[in-house]
Amino acid sequence: MTNHDVIIIGGGPAGMSALIWCHSLGLRGVLLEQSPELGGQMLEMFHRVLDYPGLVAENGRELRDHFAAQLDLLQLDYRTGRKIEEVDLSQRRARSGGEWLQGRGVIIATGARKRKLGIPGEERFEIRGVSFSATRDHSLYAGKKVSVIGGGDSAVQNSLLLAGICPSVTLIHRSDKYRGRPDWLKQAQENPRITIIDNAEAKAIEGGERVERLVIEDTRTGQIKTIDTEGVFIRVGVAPNTEMLRGQIELDEAGFIKTDQRQQTSVEMVYAAGDVCRPACLSVATAVGQGAISAKDIAISLT
Ligand code: NAP
Repeated sequence: MTNHDVIIIGGGPAGMSALIWCHSLGLRGVLLEQSPELGGQMLEMFHRVLDYPGLVAENGRELRDHFAAQLDLLQLDYRTGRKIEEVDLSQRRARSGGEWLQGRGVIIATGARKRKLGIPGEERFEIRGVSFSATRDHSLYAGKKVSVIGGGDSAVQNSLLLAGICPSVTLIHRSDKYRGRPDWLKQAQENPRITIIDNAEAKAIEGGERVERLVIEDTRTGQIKTIDTEGVFIRVGVAPNTEMLRGQIELDEAGFIKTDQRQQTSVEMVYAAGDVCRPACLSVATAVGQGAISAKDIAISLT
């Protein structure tokens, strides 16, 4: 068993910020990231990052490089490729690589992943017509007829991006209430290349070698309709990475960790930061702030 002041689980922006702040507050922190590299969802940001104050980056990976360089400069203890095998939150300890690490506090920063629909064809056609990111894949669909599923900023933004290079984009949403920015939705409604279908649920993605059709059902009438499409972009939000914590900590109905304003969870000296606790604004900036708040509150509690 090795002892640390703070065990940080997850190496996205929340976890990296928490580690930096532990250092600046005189706490011995260790960060465990299961992937071979730091960054978390930053590695899936393929657009130019213009909304992180003080630093403009060509994409999330470049922004991540700045964060990682700071960890190295400060010689902080982060370990990549370290999957957590077991956690015992009430005892503030975690097992990784067969070794138990004991903390005085724990910060969970395991983030979230893109939600899937779980419909027939979604998995089968991944990278053969099904995509989870237009910012990454849009150039592969130039000149093609495509569909986008979802009603948040991601789906609307992806539709607008695709309409720049595709002759026809169909945006399908399961209700008629959009979570996205009204000005983006207005742009989509006014774009002659975008057709919006409300109150429709995607039921199946069909085709041969590649995607050819999307089957949808009208949620009010139950009527089934088939749309010819060569690409289906699925942008239906995110799901939290909390499976390993179930039964140990209070989660909301969607599985996100419940926290108070100081990022404290239902377990004493266990904190959560970043997308795993469903911040009101999912962003690198929010994750960084919550990582800092967590470290600060642990420092106060330990003195
Ligand atoms: P979101 O805001 O959570 O929206 C998810 C959408 O998917 C909702 O319309 C939801 O419908 C729908 N949905 C969820 N599960 C579904 C299912 N199983 N089948 C069909 N539809 C389903 O997610 P997001 O658009 O990915 O955005 C996530 C966060 O990132 C938001 O805070 C957003 O503002 C932010 N974001 C910001 C920018 C930007 O500022 N540049 C760009 C993209 C995203 P219901 O409403 O019916 O639940």
